[in-house]
Amino acid sequence: MANSDPELIITFWLWWGLFSQLRRRGRGCGESGAFILGRRDGAKLRASRILYYDDIDPNALKTGIVRLSGSAMSAVWEVCESEQLEVLADVHTHSGSSEQSRSDQQYPMIATSGHIAMIIPRFARSMFDLSGVGHFRYRGAKKWDAMSPPSVGFFTLKFGGHS
Ligand SMILES: [Zn+2]
Repeated sequence: MANSDPELIITFWLWWGLFSQLRRRGRGCGESGAFILGRRDGAKLRASRILYYDDIDPNALKTGIVRLSGSAMSAVWEVCESEQLEVLADVHTHSGSSEQSRSDQQYPMIATSGHIAMIIPRFARSMFDLSGVGHFRYRGAKKWDAMSPPSVGFFTLKFGGHS
């Protein structure tokens, strides 16, 4: 049920850091990406930490398209375990629009139902272009729902369900 999806909450501070890092790491000409980690709090997912792909896999950004090795994923699970966090979402940039590519749809970073994938357009040039942010939830079997862009809360951004 789409309307029982938990809401993902990201503070402005974390969002600002995410954008500046994605922009810097992609150097304005390549994709970059990260996992958003945090804790589940009832019906809310509270983001608290960003784990950048190129920090866990030095080759992740080398081809211009984000790619992660299997050993990079074990690094992710180690961080989650040692800091008592879980992966709440993944995020990556595109040069153009925030629509999912065919490979984004075919190869979810985390293939569990309900997993959130975000796509930031134009290599994360503007953190204020909220309506341009792609927000997708995985439904299993390579199917995704395109969700509403984030809305602004009290010093936070909220990724809710369908509007
Ligand atoms: Zn993509």
